[in-house]
Amino acid sequence: MVKEFSISTSRQTEMIEITSSVVSAISSSGVKNGTALVYVPHTTAAVTINENADPSVKRDIIYELNKIIPFSDNYTHAEGNSAAHIKASIIGESITVVISGGKPLLGTWQGIFFCEFDGPRRRKFLVRIAKSEQ
Ligand code: ZN
Repeated sequence: MVKEFSISTSRQTEMIEITSSVVSAISSSGVKNGTALVYVPHTTAAVTINENADPSVKRDIIYELNKIIPFSDNYTHAEGNSAAHIKASIIGESITVVISGGKPLLGTWQGIFFCEFDGPRRRKFLVRIAKSEQ
């Protein structure tokens, strides 16, 4: 079962928590034990799991990524968004979370974040739920 979600980003670079969307995809699937794959079908956006308690963590991740991968450098890609492509590849296009008892088995401080690196844009992400034997 694959569920598609739309998301509107409002900044050039931002992290938006999507944990509740993943929880709802799992709930509507009826799967109690298995895995949920969250996949971002874009070349300048990504998905990650990180702390959802202190918003400073998001800020610090973005701040450091922007420092390590500057918006302007000696890039050759004509579209002018190489920094976004590089960030997307570093963070990655998918995460997998274990489903147990019909819920994602996340740690206390973990949340799932859609990462925009070339916004604002209308984006989407996919959640694929797979049932396991136990
Ligand atoms: Zn590009």
